[in-house]
Amino acid sequence: MPQPLVFDIKRYSINDGPGIRATIFFKGCPLNCQWCHNPESISPKVQKLFTAAKCIGCGECCRACPVYACRLVPDGVVTDGDLCTLCGHCAEVCPTLATQMSGSYYSVAELLDIVVKERPFFDQSGGGVTFSGGEPLLYPEFLIEILEACGRQGVHRAVDTSGFVKKEVLLKVAQHTDLFLYDLKMVDAEKHKRYTGVDNRLILNNLVALAECGSEVQIRIPLVGGVNDDDDSVAAMAAYVAALPGEKRAVSLLPFHDIARGKDEKLGQGRDLAALHEPGADAVQRVIEAFAGYGLTVTIGG
Ligand code: SF4
Ligand code: SF4
Repeated sequence: MPQPLVFDIKRYSINDGPGIRATIFFKGCPLNCQWCHNPESISPKVQKLFTAAKCIGCGECCRACPVYACRLVPDGVVTDGDLCTLCGHCAEVCPTLATQMSGSYYSVAELLDIVVKERPFFDQSGGGVTFSGGEPLLYPEFLIEILEACGRQGVHRAVDTSGFVKKEVLLKVAQHTDLFLYDLKMVDAEKHKRYTGVDNRLILNNLVALAECGSEVQIRIPLVGGVNDDDDSVAAMAAYVAALPGEKRAVSLLPFHDIARGKDEKLGQGRDLAALHEPGADAVQRVIEAFAGYGLTVTIGG
């Protein structure tokens, strides 16, 4: 069974579904959204992160490296990617966490243990566990196993997905999921491909399939200035959501924040985010009004 690497486990999360939640983030995503605020989630592999501002230049990492891939320079540490085997010894000895590795394996039993410890918070707040990423549906067997295990403990289970998976896989996972947090980025297929790297037909069709089978779905729209905050994009998304089968849904709006830049630096990669900007209050208001025109409610965040 393919096992995901986990790059983060967030406790006391209040933005990944109802109540207080434990959110488990899997590495690996079939999309490459230009605005992704978790760029370390895209690769399914272990990655090394370096935060120059935390580095005190002690050289411990370089001495610990068995293949001499680390080198101390005036601005911090550089790593030779061709030599580095991602063994993580450098991160183990770094006293300031300037060097860290992203991605660890956890068994189903280990994850369940972490989730169950949070139960008092879930019970008080109507919360539960959320599997996010990356794309958790890249690992359906593992995901179903942990969803089933959480279900046996009576824990509310949410899955945060891009929807870019085979329909059969999605519907199988739906049998063990109490709530989907489903991203709707834009309706225009060409634009979707340009900004995310993939066609959106599968995503839109899967959303209809989930709505038809009566799954609980919370649609989340990342609102990105310069990408999908124009009148046409907003109107197309409102019309699309309104036409979905079943009851009218509240939509969560997630305004873009430019926090990815710092993470890109940690990964030693550069992305041109210049064309993207945080949407203004006027853009948010436009979305609220466009969706209200179809009798749909919009909440900000979550
Ligand atoms: S991860 Fe291992 S091989 Fe890579 S730089 Fe660190 S110690 Fe060296
Ligand atoms: S061990 Fe950490 S603090 Fe020391 S030089 Fe390496 S990255 Fe910097």
